[in-house]
Amino acid sequence: MIRSRIAPTPSGYLHIGNALNFILVWLWVRKSGGMLWLRIDDRDTPRSRPEHMDDIFRTLEWMGIDWDEGPQTPDEEARIYSQTLRSGRYDEMTQLLIGSGEVFACACSRREIHERACACRSMRLPLDRPDTALRIATSTDPISVCDAKAGSISVSLDNEMKDFVIRRRDAIPAYQLVSLTDDIDHDINLIIRGDDLLSSTAGQLYLASLLGASAFSEISFYHHPLLYNEQGHKLSKSSGSPSLKALRESGVTQAQFYMMMSDILRSKEKYTSLREMLEVEIEVLKQPSLFF
Ligand SMILES: [Zn+2]
Repeated sequence: MIRSRIAPTPSGYLHIGNALNFILVWLWVRKSGGMLWLRIDDRDTPRSRPEHMDDIFRTLEWMGIDWDEGPQTPDEEARIYSQTLRSGRYDEMTQLLIGSGEVFACACSRREIHERACACRSMRLPLDRPDTALRIATSTDPISVCDAKAGSISVSLDNEMKDFVIRRRDAIPAYQLVSLTDDIDHDINLIIRGDDLLSSTAGQLYLASLLGASAFSEISFYHHPLLYNEQGHKLSKSSGSPSLKALRESGVTQAQFYMMMSDILRSKEKYTSLREMLEVEIEVLKQPSLFF
């Protein structure tokens, strides 16, 4: 059975780019009779805001998206599912990676990283020093990512994310480690994400290989194109594209939203709900040039 997830972050209001990802994941899972998990990426407490957490649930309801596992309310997220409750598990994974011999400590400040490449790899600093990040020594061998549409893609971690961080200086586990751990623990076998996360997929596959987590390397990945505005900028909160909250609050109904998405996706059909979109074949979801 297909097991997939949508994984929003409560560090800002969701936007149309997020909506596209949720639509693709929901359609793929529902068309294949699979399981959908709502995983909220809230490990970074200082950047998580209650109003953004609330926005995730309101937006999913407004879009007509349902899910089978995970929190149904912000309260359930905080009490039962929050990644902040799983620090022990992320520490355990960090220890396993340390056991692989490929982890090193980095004492560089944010400013130093900005000014020059980190050279801590050869310094063998103690791993338990406070205010020290942990990095993984990436390999010069390219990582092969198998994508449902593009086939095998070769990614050089040395070019894309050389010696990436697995635990930050403030001891918060980094996205790559948390995402990998959660996907392994929930037996995820399909990950649909934007193509800006291709290098993250490669980084996570590399961590999985060090951990001997063979199930992760068998996951089906699909990296979908992002939506761009007329100026060629990625639609995101940083590019100033309207948040879904702003659309909702300006009175846009669910039907109007899906008609708008039909236009954005250059679909011949004008859909007024997600359920109507179930007629779109999975092969078409994989070939977004037909759908977009
Ligand atoms: Zn460093």
